[in-house]
Amino acid sequence: MSILENPNQIIRPEILGLSPYHVQAASGMIKLDAMENPYPLPPALLEEIAQLAASAPINRYPDARADSLKFALRQALGIPSEMEILLGNGSDEIIQIIAMAVAKPNAVLLSVEPAFAMFRMIATFTNIQYVGVPLQKDFSLNLEAMLGVIAHHRPAVTFLAYPNNPTGNLFDADAILSIIQASSGLVVIDEAYQAFAGVSFMEQLTHFPNLLVMRTLSKLGLAGLRLGLLAGRSGWLMQFEKVRLPYNVGIMTQLIAEKVLQHTSVLLEQAETIKSERSKMNTYLNSLEQVEVFPSNANFILFRVDKADHIFEALKRHNILIKKLDGSHPLLENCLRVTIGTPDENKQFCTALDTILNQ
Ligand SMILES: *Cc1c(COP(=O)(O)O)cnc(C)c1O
Repeated sequence: MSILENPNQIIRPEILGLSPYHVQAASGMIKLDAMENPYPLPPALLEEIAQLAASAPINRYPDARADSLKFALRQALGIPSEMEILLGNGSDEIIQIIAMAVAKPNAVLLSVEPAFAMFRMIATFTNIQYVGVPLQKDFSLNLEAMLGVIAHHRPAVTFLAYPNNPTGNLFDADAILSIIQASSGLVVIDEAYQAFAGVSFMEQLTHFPNLLVMRTLSKLGLAGLRLGLLAGRSGWLMQFEKVRLPYNVGIMTQLIAEKVLQHTSVLLEQAETIKSERSKMNTYLNSLEQVEVFPSNANFILFRVDKADHIFEALKRHNILIKKLDGSHPLLENCLRVTIGTPDENKQFCTALDTILNQ
């Protein structure tokens, strides 16, 4: 066999060992699997976006600095004036940029388990050693274990999602502060779900030289645009800028995001609706004897059933797609995750779950 027909000889073994990131087919289904905001933008705003798109100079490369978008983000997200902003094609790309920049031969990337799967995946892509410290059974941080690993491995970077995905909870803020103080490397607080939690480490940036705060517009209603950002000191961000590909954020994303950010209240009102639907869904799930519900500060709820696989498949037959986490980590045994949808979608989910549990 020619070497060119045999990937094993060329591709790195860590990559050969991965399974591709699996996105479930969702056409025609009620899609409650990916933490998307289910609401469209108001028609008048959509009209403005259409006009922006029509006149966008798409024959030109986008603004590589994106200063005017950064200014809009600064206003909308309350980024301290002395902090810099790095933009990514989604925050996934920012994780990758940071990992590439710190990937020295023996560098360690620390996170918790279960956490956002990309932390581990990107460590693998970039040849960094990954260490994942298991959470407690209630998904709180095991601070002692974290501090032990920090002292022993001295991770180049630690990623913590606040609230955490897929569990939905906020870690104890004081425990996070201890981790930041104990770390000789960077600590990135990933605030993808900040709009649904109301708390943030953004204001701590000025107090800790090794802290970085990451946000995304994806869970707020702009998942299709792909825009994430990192806020932090220029000393770090100017290094990451060297790794960022110059035109990673396209012109459509820049123009549309800036326009929508002039109407942040629209997104924040949608987030408020999602929070009140979350509370109803939480009450409903808690009323079911066969279900264990984990408290959520995000736009999804994690819950445990007797037979996750059965419920997941049965929901699919009811045309409802959620996320099955059973099998992804021992702490997530028999766990499912439902994203908060519109009131109508949530009702359909609850009705279907009720039917399935009582069959
Ligand atoms: C969804 C998610 C992201 C990725 O967001 P993008 O900006 O769409 O790449 C990052 N972190 C966490 C914890 C997430 O759940």
